[in-house]
Amino acid sequence: MKFTIQSRNDDLSNDLMDKAKAYLTGFGLLFDEEEPDIVLSIGGDGTLLHAFHKYRHRLENTAFVGIHTGHLGFYADWKPAEIEKLVISLAHKKFNVIEYPLLEVKINYRNEEDSLLYLALNESSVKSPDVTLVMDVELNDSHFERFRGDGLCISTPSGSTAYNKALGGAILHPSLPSMQLTEMASINNRVFRTVGSPLVLPGHHKCVLIPVNGPDFMVTVDHLQLLHKDVKSIEYRVAEERVRFARFRPFPFWKRVRDSFIENDG
Ligand code: NAD
Repeated sequence: MKFTIQSRNDDLSNDLMDKAKAYLTGFGLLFDEEEPDIVLSIGGDGTLLHAFHKYRHRLENTAFVGIHTGHLGFYADWKPAEIEKLVISLAHKKFNVIEYPLLEVKINYRNEEDSLLYLALNESSVKSPDVTLVMDVELNDSHFERFRGDGLCISTPSGSTAYNKALGGAILHPSLPSMQLTEMASINNRVFRTVGSPLVLPGHHKCVLIPVNGPDFMVTVDHLQLLHKDVKSIEYRVAEERVRFARFRPFPFWKRVRDSFIENDG
């Protein structure tokens, strides 16, 4: 089995990386940054997001594991003290692989045949660089609403506990192949109207955003943020690809939600 390690690059994460690398190679596993079967992410959820984007071209052949060197993460759910247990389980291949849905983001441009395709593990958000965002929202090729406000966010189920949650979205279990659309401060009065509630769309639905008041947008895909110019439309759907996580012990999603947001029993 081949592995690589992505560190947040602070002292604690780097120490742990050196330790894990020595243990794993000692057990006969091969360190391979190009074609790893296992990616060990050491740091926080942000470190795992970076690792996901680095290896997104080989999601079918790679499983991710996260160790948190700060607070408990949603993807980074192993403690540094558990490193030996984790390494032994890895070496003996005592783990299951679970899969979570991803979001496909396709950005089409006005003057080009080309479009850009991204995959998000958490979410994609759209904002206008300097004015109120005005976009038509189409669901399955039918006009749904004209949105005016700060922005829109489309999240995956596993990303529903991140930015989506801060925007008032629901927490979705990652076994549901779906995506969730949430509003950022929509303008709602007698003239302008949006639905005002988060929408959860199933795997076979499509959501398209069409610019009304300008062609340039700040689009985020997880931690990546880019200004896209001359945008014709942005298409969102549940991706065919899925992300794979190596699970060494049961840690049910709702327990992770409780430990992160209500009370951590240790
Ligand atoms: P980061 O690594 O500092 O992450 C920001 C926070 O989001 C951290 O506390 C992290 O643990 C948490 N987080 C990330 N993914 C999560 C998930 N799936 N469930 C629960 N918590 C999660 O910063 P970054 O590297 O820039 O991370 C980008 C992420 O930050 C984005 O994908 C977005 O979800 C999140 N974000 C959140 C807000 C907000 O809550 N208001 C605003 C912007 C971005």
